Amino acid sequence: MGKGSTIVIKLGTSSLVDEVTKEPRLATMSLIVETVVKLRRAGHRVVIVSSGGIAVGLKTMGLDRRPKKLAQVQALAAIGQSKLIGRWDSLFAQLGQRIAQILITRNDISDWTQYKNAQNTMQELLDMGVVPIVNENDTLSVAEIKFGDNDTLSAITSALIKADYLFLMTDVDCLYTANPRTDPLAKPILIVDDMSALNVDTSSSGSDVGTGGMTTKLIAADLATEAGTTMIIMKSERPENLWKIVEYISNSDDDVLNGLTIEDRQVKELEKLKANDVPLHTRFIGYKQHVKNREFWMLHGLHSHGALIIDQGAHQALTRTNKAGLLPVGIIGVVGHFHEHECVALKAGFRSPDGSWDSTRPVTEIGRARVNYGSVDIEKIKGRQSHEIEDILGYHDSEYIAHRDNLAFPPSVLEKSQSSLNLVHNDI
Ligand code: GLU
Repeated sequence: MGKGSTIVIKLGTSSLVDEVTKEPRLATMSLIVETVVKLRRAGHRVVIVSSGGIAVGLKTMGLDRRPKKLAQVQALAAIGQSKLIGRWDSLFAQLGQRIAQILITRNDISDWTQYKNAQNTMQELLDMGVVPIVNENDTLSVAEIKFGDNDTLSAITSALIKADYLFLMTDVDCLYTANPRTDPLAKPILIVDDMSALNVDTSSSGSDVGTGGMTTKLIAADLATEAGTTMIIMKSERPENLWKIVEYISNSDDDVLNGLTIEDRQVKELEKLKANDVPLHTRFIGYKQHVKNREFWMLHGLHSHGALIIDQGAHQALTRTNKAGLLPVGIIGVVGHFHEHECVALKAGFRSPDGSWDSTRPVTEIGRARVNYGSVDIEKIKGRQSHEIEDILGYHDSEYIAHRDNLAFPPSVLEKSQSSLNLVHNDI
């Protein structure tokens, strides 16, 4: 990792609050503060995503258990969040490091202008040498506008600031093939560069005080790597290990792993970690051909209001290297009710022999589109040529249902489709 990397560190509630006594883990917090300041002094830019607002609220009010009523949980978040940030502030102040609090809901980034605004504010804070401390705005967010867990929030934060590295600090040291608490044959998974090849048991479902678990970590890995961020899972008990891992990654020669099977790569990586005296951790390598800012926003910031089912020909045309726009002729199905300029999911399906959508065959979600026509109009023009639009609808906005700039696909979908296209070309 070169000087001047941008690093996001995510801390779950169980890393910051003792599960039994619900007292703050002050020693862990102090070690994190020392590590962050060390990283700052070495020229890195650091953002913390800190959970714990609700747990601190519970302790403050002398409650043992999270209440059922949403308004009560939100009130506790308001009580706890201010104490939590106060704790961070006083610890960082000991070492002269300034911090800032950012509370965010999913709604805050569903509008492009607001997304850019959040991005600019975070960049400005980093330029000022401040450490932003982010949490979900639990006091105001209800189910529909929630990120849900801070693993996802930290991946979205990483994409917002184009982070090089996201560290998820958790209560296990790395990802395992099975739950290591119950299965002695569980093997560590140390390096992942293809999420689709992963075969893991995600049943370790987080602690009593947190919300996470391995499933949300894998979702976060998908989002972060898509945006080009390398994500690392490590144990929060020894936060000072973060520095060691950072140094190891920056000097690690991953080429020695090329050509090995997934299993052999894990064995080789374990040898490398032992030889370098580096603690266990899992590294999900960010895609080199990652999605751009606006595409990431379309995929994960915008709400999706329905779906368009497209045929295999359109699937290929949209995902080839020089991607095309979406024409009505490739659409075989419309799902849900949506208006023009709204965002919909794109799903690839199959035609029946008569040309209509064969809804008995599976559809695969491949990306997102912002549409030029609403669902009622697309239902009328689907499968037709663009020059027929005016006659059918009585008006003509665009020959495309969605222009290529308003289409977004994750790199995994593009890679898969482009490698299958290459196969076809090579066969010919
Ligand atoms: N935002 C929640 C809190 O501060 C935590 C969510 C999570 O741990 O994933 O309590």
